[in-house]
Amino acid sequence: MPAKRLDGKSCAADLESRLIKRISQCKVKPHLAVVIVGDDPASHVYVRNKILSCERLGIKSTHIELPSETSQQQVEDTIISLNNDSSLHGILIQSPLPSHLDEESLTDLIDPSKDVDGFHPQNLGRIVQGRLDGMIPCTPAGVMEMLRWANVEMSGKKAVVIGRSFNVGMPQALLLASRGADATVTVVHSRTLDAKTECLAADIVIAAVGKPEMVKPDWIKPGAVVIDVGINRVDDDTRERGWRLAGDVHPDVSEVASLLSPVPGGVGPMTVAMLMANTVRSAEAQHS
Ligand code: NAP
Repeated sequence: MPAKRLDGKSCAADLESRLIKRISQCKVKPHLAVVIVGDDPASHVYVRNKILSCERLGIKSTHIELPSETSQQQVEDTIISLNNDSSLHGILIQSPLPSHLDEESLTDLIDPSKDVDGFHPQNLGRIVQGRLDGMIPCTPAGVMEMLRWANVEMSGKKAVVIGRSFNVGMPQALLLASRGADATVTVVHSRTLDAKTECLAADIVIAAVGKPEMVKPDWIKPGAVVIDVGINRVDDDTRERGWRLAGDVHPDVSEVASLLSPVPGGVGPMTVAMLMANTVRSAEAQHS
């Protein structure tokens, strides 16, 4: 039997309807600032989606566009003034930044209580402590929300996370292993000797690699749950635009898995929805 589709759009719509209710009860209108530096076309699409999502939910957004040649000092000054703006609840610096900018030190400068991406070391560190009431990075938080929404049993199950980035793989592994989720987690990365054997042992596989369709059907235990975080642009002459989006998981995995998230329409919409959730949480915390 083919895998059921783990529909991120429906899960995001469900979350959004709960957020709209919370926003209506919030003492102030939540307010998110999105900063983009340069003219990377994909980043502009992501920012537009975030702004549209704010509009749909009734979150105020401020869009700051800076030219590619903006200096480190100028971006730092922008962040400091956003930190000091008490009408703002969330600050997001769209990644990737032009290569002359030091992304890590800019992230460190964001007020952790407004760090809606959840990438500030203080927010990432809280996850290690098991304090999950703060800003959690949006993609792994969205994956956890999807698993819970689909009633996937995690306790005592074996989970494999492919990828160990600070923004997806590592926080994902910590969240799966945290109290309440209680999975037993293996992290697979580029130095792992046999990724296929690790995956075959797993009840839950989360692929966050950035390698199109790397996870093949013979990597997956029959009945496993598979979440595809990957977003890869691959050439495709059959499409008018000459390319298509592919995940990190081969589509034929649906013949083996019990549940599979699609690309697009899986984790992507959840990432944006969790950004909105972090903004609302920040507004609630600042005005409770
Ligand atoms: P990243 O920072 O490049 O990390 C990729 C990870 O994959 C690294 O830890 C790397 O290992 C590992 N890796 C690379 N080749 C491997 C291999 N052959 N076998 C096993 N592991 C391998 O990427 P990321 O930011 O985590 O993103 C991963 C994917 O998710 C990308 O496609 C990205 O576009 C997508 N993404 C989607 C969303 C969404 O909203 N849906 C959000 C964020 C990211 P090493 O550490 O050893 O190099």
